[in-house]
Parts: sequence; structure tokens; C-alpha cells
Amino acid sequence: MNLKVYWDSGVVVQLGETTICLDPQTTKIPYDHILISHAHRDHTAGFLALKPKKYSTYPTIDIFEAVTRRKVNNVKRLSYGEKVKIGDFKVFVYNSGHILGSAMFKIETSEGTVLYTGDLNCVDTLITSAANNVQCDILIIESTYGNSGLVFPSREKIYRSMVKWVVEKICSGKIPIFYVYPVGKAQEVIRLLNEFIEVEVAVHPTIERVNRVYSRLNIKLQASTVQPKKGLVAVYPTYSYGSQKISGEVSAFATGWALRFKNKERFFPLSSHADFNQLLNFIKSVNPKIVYTVFGFTSQLAKHVRKKLNIKAKPLQI
Ligand SMILES: [Zn+2]
Repeated sequence: MNLKVYWDSGVVVQLGETTICLDPQTTKIPYDHILISHAHRDHTAGFLALKPKKYSTYPTIDIFEAVTRRKVNNVKRLSYGEKVKIGDFKVFVYNSGHILGSAMFKIETSEGTVLYTGDLNCVDTLITSAANNVQCDILIIESTYGNSGLVFPSREKIYRSMVKWVVEKICSGKIPIFYVYPVGKAQEVIRLLNEFIEVEVAVHPTIERVNRVYSRLNIKLQASTVQPKKGLVAVYPTYSYGSQKISGEVSAFATGWALRFKNKERFFPLSSHADFNQLLNFIKSVNPKIVYTVFGFTSQLAKHVRKKLNIKAKPLQI
């Protein structure tokens, strides 16, 4: 077997003369072809690499450009269901369910197929559909919540508790503010508020820029950059928490890591990732011969895959 999968500041797949790097974490990349799975900051360093040819989906490139206000050059825009030839490889693009435009890449080689999930979500949300199940020989899967016990309540239950919290706070004269990741999570929370509560939504300018990309792709979100005040609900980036004092503010956070926090009233476990059980179910359904784990609980997930599914598994990163 000459097909190689390894970690070199990103996931590298190599056979003969063809090498591609997936989600490199640096701009200094010695490879000619880069695939970028989605628009979150920890996956997009490769967009700013000058020499290599970049490949990503339309929404991912648009969101990256809107957030960073930088232009991506030498890039091929892809859609779900599309196939592109890179050297001797055929690369297929699938939905990974994580955020708008997030992609899984299946790489077809003469020695078998490799599936890279990027960040993965296996349930439908108000904006995204669950990831596709794609059969493969070698699976490279994210492990953010890849440890036992990291299991989320149903999305409906989380949505209900968030709506209830907002209504209670508005009725008691407070200004509820969600602090969330500005790409993906913010738009899901805004959609939830738009659909279930008739109340104006105030957002931070960064979130507004991302919303405009969503809007161009026909996902309409009602929100504006007005100053939060009584009777409104606000959605702000987590990084802005504590940076301004808003009188009457009550804050909450929507993140999968809420599972670990004691204060259940202010922390909602709304995640854009698959939980532990969903990761194992996904692995089972795509039927790989070997699994490489990346990002997060890599050793733990690999161990569970070996024990529970009886499939060869190991972390890719050293
Ligand atoms: Zn992500």
C-alpha cells in the first residue's frame, strides 16, 4: 500500500506524484493543493497561502471573505455533489452538516477512498441538514466531543429551553443576550428567535456581515445592528462578552461545552458538532477499514472505536 495519510500542519493525503493538504493550520504549506472544509477560523489559514491552489465551497469562501475582509486568490469554488480532479485523485464534495457550506471531502485514489469529515454534525438544525453518510475505506474524523458522556439533549429540547429563557427575561424587563460563535451558531440562534418569538434581534456588526452572506444564499435572517435595549434580544460573539456594559443585560451562552457547566440556566448545550454517540454511529454507517481521529479527544475516540466497533483506529496528530 503506497497511499499515505499523515499530519503535517494539516491532514495530508499522498499517493505517487499527487499530494493534497486538508485544512492546513498555517499559511506556509509545501503542497500544491489545499482543500478547506468550512469557514471557522481554526480551519481557514490555508486561504491566505499564496502559492497553492485552494478548493472550497461557495459559502465557505464568501463567509471567510466577509469576516476577514480579505480576498481569496487562486481558488476553485465547489458545490455539494460536485467532483473535481486533482492530479491522480478524484475529489467529491458532500455536506458535513456543521455550518452553512461546510464540506466533507471524499478522495478517490487507485488504492481506495479516503473520507475527511472536517467538523461534522449528524442532526438537522433550523439551518443545516445532517451530514451525508459516505462509504469509505479510510475515515479521517473530527473528535471534538469524542469522549463518553459528551452526549447532547435533543435539539428540540434545547431550542425550547432557549425560547423559554428569552421570553421569561423579556417579560421581567431584562435584555437577554446570547454570546455565541459568530459564524454558524449565531445564525441558528437568530433563526430560532425569528421563528418562535416575535421580537426584534440586535446583532454585532461581525454577525451582521455573516448574515448578509446567508441572505445572499436565500437564508433570510431578521436582525440589525441596533443597540440592545428593553424589549429586544441580542446575539453577540463570545469574544465580545464583558466588553461593553449594557444596563439590564442578562447573558447566556450556547455551546456544546455547556454540558460541563453547572449553571444550566445560562448555558445551553447547542452544538454544531456531532456528540459522542453520533460520532460512533457515523463511523459505523460509513463502514471504514481504518479510522484516523483528528481535533479534540483523538486518543479517547480512537480507543472507543477499537473497543466498541472493533475497527482499527488511531489519532492522526502526534
Ligand atoms: Zn467548525
